[in-house]
Amino acid sequence: MISVDHALRIVLDTAQVLPVRPVPITESVGLVLGEPIISSENIPSFDNSAMDGYAVRYIDVQNASREYPVKLKIVDVLPAGKVSQKHLEEDETIQIMTGAPLPSGADAVVMVEQTEKRNDNEVLVFSPVQKNEHCRKAGDDIKAGQVVFQKGRLIKPYDVGVLASIGKSTVQINPQPSIALLSTGDELVGMDEPLPPGKIRSSNNYTLRALIEKMGITVVDLGIAKDTLKDTEEKLQNAFSADIVLTSGGVSMGEFDYVKQALEKLSVDIKFWKVKQKPGKPLVFGSYQSKLFFGLPGNPVSSVVCFELFVVPAIKKMSNVDYYMPNSVKAVSSVQIPKKAGLRYFLRGTLSKNEKGFTVLPMNNQSSGVMSSLSYANCLIDIPEEAGNIESGQEVTAILLDLQTLHELMRI
Ligand code: AMP
Ligand code: MG
Repeated sequence: MISVDHALRIVLDTAQVLPVRPVPITESVGLVLGEPIISSENIPSFDNSAMDGYAVRYIDVQNASREYPVKLKIVDVLPAGKVSQKHLEEDETIQIMTGAPLPSGADAVVMVEQTEKRNDNEVLVFSPVQKNEHCRKAGDDIKAGQVVFQKGRLIKPYDVGVLASIGKSTVQINPQPSIALLSTGDELVGMDEPLPPGKIRSSNNYTLRALIEKMGITVVDLGIAKDTLKDTEEKLQNAFSADIVLTSGGVSMGEFDYVKQALEKLSVDIKFWKVKQKPGKPLVFGSYQSKLFFGLPGNPVSSVVCFELFVVPAIKKMSNVDYYMPNSVKAVSSVQIPKKAGLRYFLRGTLSKNEKGFTVLPMNNQSSGVMSSLSYANCLIDIPEEAGNIESGQEVTAILLDLQTLHELMRI
């Protein structure tokens, strides 16, 4: 048995960043950028108007006011998308729309609200403008040759617009790993099938799938393997076309736990089996070429805890995301928590915030089969391996289970 930290180090050392590949920018959000992005163009690429109004020589309207408006001659009308062939001379103006290129000779724009059009050829201006007022200069946003985004950036929705504006339709990204999922157990039936005595509905595949899909990764569900070496081996045989293979169940000390034996037959390099933690002790981890294997315990809570602690960091490492660890805060336990030294505990709990800070309360039933308590909890209380009983008022670490928890805590 190895410690949680040691096990995680092995997982992260084994997981390798996947090679970059191109994707359309519409599929790039949430992925890590695999190349620096350099703009070959100025954005905007030409000086243009920031307002609907009149392009002027600022000098001509310097003395304009409500009482003494300046009269200008309209020599052209310029919608966005059109270039004027005219050059502004003294006391001339061109009516201009937002985004239209600033005509030659113009050096400012008077907004339409500060004018009154007398007829097609004449406008009164009621207010002076400064040089360049209401003008957007070429390159104001992005300059040609500028590094817009560094390699390694996590791509945000806003970035997609920036990439589109510089004409970059495809970018190199670090892909996320593909994941295959196999459930094991003679007791399992599909959720839509009748439930004979002694059987249970398989739920781990749904939980894990939901967790994986929330990260933007699609899952190949390989179904349910019977508790025989033959079926387990057969079902695992083709699983390694995925980058990560997850199984649930069949890794404990039971008479019918065949996952480890199947792995040995398939020449999977088993790196560790059993971690000093509760729940999730019988976790198996191995590799097959560049592919990773996690044999998650069958108990629903154990499989989720192992997923959050080990599989998520592996997914992030392979995707080249540079922060692996779950969000956590220090919190004070509001009750005494019985604990034996020797295993690191991850107890389901509810984290709350008051004027003094964070407090945490463990759920009453910590059985690793009690799936609903994960739904009702919002954190895992992380208590070190060597610790004994935790006293009421003692500080512990609370690992947040989802972003919703973070939002709720921030609202207070
Ligand atoms: P095992 O690790 O195979 O000994 O399974 C431990 C416990 O988890 C048993 O009570 C199983 O019935 C349960 N279990 C295993 N696989 C699943 C699954 N896919 N969905 C729900 N419970 C499961
Ligand atoms: Mg089993």
